[in-house]
Amino acid sequence: MSDCLFCKIANKEIPSGIVSEDENFVAFKDINPKAPIHLLIIPKIHLGPISTLGAEDKEIVSGLILKAKETAEKMGISENGYRLIFNTGRDAGMEVSHLHLHLLAGKPLKFEF
Ligand code: AMP
Ligand code: ZN
Repeated sequence: MSDCLFCKIANKEIPSGIVSEDENFVAFKDINPKAPIHLLIIPKIHLGPISTLGAEDKEIVSGLILKAKETAEKMGISENGYRLIFNTGRDAGMEVSHLHLHLLAGKPLKFEF
């Protein structure tokens, strides 16, 4: 998708704080962090948010979650713990419609709305 912000990040058309990358996924720093560590993990190919996905996407979605786990291990935060979040739709405050998984860590995280 030519006008998609996260496609541009994945293609390095705009700069971002990439912390890890492989053939299929990119993990980069959220520009407006909500925790001491706040990463976004995205597939390189454009997929919409969770609400748009189907069975054909299950390999990418499971790969995305495992990439978050692997990134957390590499950063040494697995033992203390972390939170993974998918936002989808207006009430969740979704801003970018390229599938992304938030990884939050670095302090005890509150869970309230
Ligand atoms: P969501 O609300 O789930 O759609 O999350 C989108 C996230 O992307 C927000 O947490 C933003 O702070 C983040 N974001 C927006 N633009 C950029 C950017 N250029 N680089 C890194 N993160 C971004
Ligand atoms: Zn995209």
